[in-house]
Order: sequence, then structure tokens, then C-alpha cells
Amino acid sequence: MRDRRRGKGYIRALLLLLFIAGIVYGIKTFFSSPLFEKNPPTITLKNEIYWNLLSPLKIPISDDSGLKQVKVLLSDGTNEVLISQDEFKPTMKKFIAKVAFPKLGLSKDKGILKLTVKTTDISKWNFFTGNSSQQQSIIRIDEKKPDLFPLISSYGITKGGAGLAIFKANDDNLEKLYIETNFGKEFKPTPFHKKGYYAVLVAWPMTQKRFSAKIVAIDKAGNKSRSRLSFFLKNKKYRTSTLEAKDSFINGKISDLAEDRPERTKDLTPAQKLDFINATYRDENNQIIRKITSKVDQNRLEDFKLEPFYPLKNGKVVASFGDHRYYKYKGEVISEAYHLGLDLASTKMADLLVTNKGVTVFANYNGIYGNNLIVYHGLGLYSLYGHCSNLLVQKGDIIKPWQVAAKTGATGLALGDHLHFSILIQGIFVRPAEWMDSKWMQTNITDVIDGAKKMIDR
Ligand SMILES: [Zn+2]
Repeated sequence: MRDRRRGKGYIRALLLLLFIAGIVYGIKTFFSSPLFEKNPPTITLKNEIYWNLLSPLKIPISDDSGLKQVKVLLSDGTNEVLISQDEFKPTMKKFIAKVAFPKLGLSKDKGILKLTVKTTDISKWNFFTGNSSQQQSIIRIDEKKPDLFPLISSYGITKGGAGLAIFKANDDNLEKLYIETNFGKEFKPTPFHKKGYYAVLVAWPMTQKRFSAKIVAIDKAGNKSRSRLSFFLKNKKYRTSTLEAKDSFINGKISDLAEDRPERTKDLTPAQKLDFINATYRDENNQIIRKITSKVDQNRLEDFKLEPFYPLKNGKVVASFGDHRYYKYKGEVISEAYHLGLDLASTKMADLLVTNKGVTVFANYNGIYGNNLIVYHGLGLYSLYGHCSNLLVQKGDIIKPWQVAAKTGATGLALGDHLHFSILIQGIFVRPAEWMDSKWMQTNITDVIDGAKKMIDR
């Protein structure tokens, strides 16, 4: 009897304990449910914003459980105005608050405003009041467009050639400055001579029918100015030729180069192999060149005195820039390519001269170009030398004017010993003839630089 009663007592105590545990667990679960989450809403707002007062400011706000209310206030230091107050029913997890400058109540005279964003979520935390966030930002008013003024440029530009332009670009909060073209390329200007002035070499790719260029300046508040660069446009016809590909050529040079990419070329027919090397592999090699030569240093340019390029003493021109070559094999056109340099030949293993100072940016094997040297001369201008037998400099080496930097050869896609000479402007191949012609360089480069300096210093 006694034992039985004791047994019942145990069971009761156990049940009570389970009951309490259940309540504690229940309360815990209840308060840790999303209904009671403790994460405040997120307000994405920079500490400092430049605003042109034209387009509304957009402020993303989000919360995991849902937003209850968003308030936006704007102050000019004297008055504060409630710009917007949004309540959400049904609730939203994401919201973009849009801020427009009020027609009444605020002055923009000081140029500075203070923005305050306050928000609360639908959580029952904090005695059912929810989690709150507040963010503030300083707003700098900038309603002024960047000031653009073209000073002077080369008189003309030839299809496939280059031109120089010097202009003024002024803005207290300048963010982006570039030259926009009709063919998608953006040229990057270099600071020139005095603050607010820039120089840029532009190129008209030989494969583009038309050329137009505009300076574009955008400030931190999004104010945008554009100004056209005017050049007299000179058209130029480039030669088209058809070459017969012989088996000896495909079994020789082409097959040698195909060994650089054995996995891609092992199952190809002779015609496909030639097209792979002449088109696909050429593109790969050109991509490497374009990437390296697209860079423009941002050191302020004081002068740009260049000698005409004269890479090979008594070099005979054996192929021209811009030749559009079609390759025929057994009567059928199987491949085509543009020749983007000038081929010069003299004696075997002749001295290769870099007539202008610069820095070596590439000195390595590069497919169809063989042993390939690329030198940077400033202002986005590069000279390139292909098919070398020996490279006498390394990447990073400074080149002195008239330095012998390599020896000519027949490496890469070359049949006899010759030099492939190219000039590039910000990744675009241009006519080497212009940069080998002292008269062209005087009129289009030197006179433009000197003329601009006179205008700036006046
Ligand atoms: Zn060539």
C-alpha cells in the first residue's frame, strides 16, 4: 500500500516536470519564431552621396521578416522635411525608397544636405514594437556638368591611321573621362601639361568604314558632358590579294605551328589546319597583343618627342599594312586574314632598331608572330616586332633610342628572314607608315603638342 502511494507520487512529479519543460520549450520556441526575430532591417546607404537633384536618390531597404514602416527625412541644417513615410500592408521584405528634392521647405544654398532614413520591421520583439534601424548620409549637391573644351587636334585622320587631340576637362568631382567612338572602343586620355588638361591618341581601325569620336565626362553626381572631336576624315583603300597555299607550306610552317596546339589540330585536314593557324591561332596571338597594348599610363605628359620609327636599316618593304589576304587551296578559298603590320627585309639576322625610348612590355614567343617584342612609348603608343631570331631584351627593360633590341629571323608564320613591324594605339593596330614619316609626325604630333602648350600657358 505504502509503496504504491510512493509510486504514484513519482509519476505525478515526473508529469509535473514534463509539463514545466513543455511550457519552457513552448515559450522558447514561441519567442525564437520568426514572429520574434531580433534582426533589424538593412538600409543600404553610403556615408556620402553626390546628387544632381535631377534623378531621385534610390535607397534599398530590406528585412527578413518584413518591413512595417520607412521614413525619410532631409535637412539643410536649418530645416528638416519629412520626404516620405511608407507603411506596408501587406508587408514587404524589400523596398526602394525614392528621394526627390522637395519643392518647398529646404534650401540648397549651402550645397550640403543631411539625409536620415528610419525603418521598423514587423517583428514582435521589443514588446511588440519591432526592430528599428536608422542611417544617415551627407549629400553634396552638384548640379554642374563637367566643363569640356577641345583645344587642338591633328587636322585629319586616315582610315587605318591615328590622330592626336588635346582638350580641357574640368569638374570638382570628375569620376569618368574617356573618348567614345562609333565602333565601341573607348580611348583613355592622359593628363597633359597642367591640371585639367588631357591628351589622347585615337585610332581609326582599318576594318571600320566610319570614324567619329566624342569626349565624355561624367562626375560623381552623374552629370554628363559630351563634346565631339573633329577630324577631317581621309578614306583609304587597302589591298586585297589571293594567295595559293601549297602543300609544302602546309606541311612545313603550318604543321610546325600546329604543334603548338596538338590537341586542337591533330584530326584536321590540310585546309582546316591552315585555317586554324591563319585565323583561330592568329586571333589568340592578337588577343595577347591587344591585352598588353590596351594599357595607358596616367603620368602627366609634358612632352611627346618622337623620332620616326626606322626598325631596319635599308629594309625593303615586302608586304604592306592592311592587306586583306585570302588563301586558296586546290582552287577553293579556305581562309582569310588582315595583315596588320609592315614587313621589312634586309640581310639575315639583321639588327632590329627601336628608335624611340620606351619600356619592354613583352619579349616572348607568341605563335604566328614567333619571337615577339613589344615596347611601350607612352600616351598609349606601342611598337611591335615579330619573327625575331633573338630577343636581346627582357620584359621590364628600359629601351634607349636607337637600341638594338633583337635580331631579325623567320620564327612564327614567316617564310624567309624578315621583320614584321606594327604600331598599336590602345590595342588597335594602325598604319606604321605614319610613324615612320617625319613630316606626318611633325604636323600631327609635335605641332599639336607645341600648339596646345602655347594655348595653355598663354
Ligand atoms: Zn608581317
